[in-house]
Amino acid sequence: MFDLLKTDSKTRARLGRMTTTHGVVETPVFMPVGTQGSVKALDPRELEEVGTQIILGNTYHLFIRPGLDIINEAGGLHSFINWPKPILTDSGGFQVFSLAKIRKIRPHGVEFRSHLDGSLLFLGPREAMEIQRMLGSDIAMVFDDCPPHTATAKEVRSAVERTIRWAEECREQPRAKRQMIFGIVQGGSHPVLREECARAIVGLEFDGYAIGGVSVGEPEPEMFKAVEYTVPFLPENQPRYAMGLGTPAQIMELIARGVDMFDCVLPTRVARNGTAFTRKGTISIKGGAFKRDWSPIEEGCTCYACRHFTRAYLRHLLNVNEILGLRMLSVHNSHLFASVVADARTHLMAGTFADYHREFIAGYVPTRRVLAARAQSSAT
Ligand SMILES: [Zn+2]
Repeated sequence: MFDLLKTDSKTRARLGRMTTTHGVVETPVFMPVGTQGSVKALDPRELEEVGTQIILGNTYHLFIRPGLDIINEAGGLHSFINWPKPILTDSGGFQVFSLAKIRKIRPHGVEFRSHLDGSLLFLGPREAMEIQRMLGSDIAMVFDDCPPHTATAKEVRSAVERTIRWAEECREQPRAKRQMIFGIVQGGSHPVLREECARAIVGLEFDGYAIGGVSVGEPEPEMFKAVEYTVPFLPENQPRYAMGLGTPAQIMELIARGVDMFDCVLPTRVARNGTAFTRKGTISIKGGAFKRDWSPIEEGCTCYACRHFTRAYLRHLLNVNEILGLRMLSVHNSHLFASVVADARTHLMAGTFADYHREFIAGYVPTRRVLAARAQSSAT
């Protein structure tokens, strides 16, 4: 289901191809997040236009609203949201541990109260796999224990032990026809725990492996460490997925460290604040400096927003709260993430990835505000 086509000679970057029930995914790949069954502000046609190959759906949110009976009646998630391409669903573990009010962690899952109406719910490996089977996603994720970055070493250790036990339980559950299942490695930024968890999870033989416990509010160097402590223990010939990451520069750094798949709410989240991503960093289009700026958001960008509208017009739309403004920023940002990663694939193919990586990082100025928005994204 995954073909490793090429490994870069100067970095650990890889070019691959993953075949799913709903089509082929070229890796490295960026997956926009459709939290509530919709990538915020974008319709499926726009998603395809910006170059989206696969989107992510949130088990926790879809389970709470609209509920499984509705999605089942619609014929599964693809048909309910009218998205014909691949979908990866998370297991809900991340949301249960970050969003819900946990009542009790039990041997086979978590008893929690819905963040919405306080109703008492239970989600564990068995339930998470059953929900994902009914959603009919192309890739299902195991139910894991994802502790915050402030967790003590002891807490991270019990999260690792629980994650391994729950992964075994997930592995035994029935799945939708040809549905793949990815294991998740936890262990914070502790090298020993990362290795131990990776070896145990890989021993269970999943279709791919995710690095979890990142994008949980940790400083960037710790995130890179967590990835570096995990990647050497993952099999070469299977896809690797860094969960919830990141900015374009972080994604570029992670591709160079051998990661193939990414998902993040940043492109659409910051668009709603009037922030645009470019290959040089972010700009706040709302600023007065753009009042008479007749250029596109980013010179040379081929997205619909840049081909049709000026910064001056988009700034005006954002300042008077017109929906078109945030929609167009979402189009541009999603296009930017997809094309930065598509260019990485082109350079990997041509054997020039190391230069592309170096020049990209040198030209990109990270913004503190955007990194803060990423930390905040832990909630969804
Ligand atoms: Zn654009």
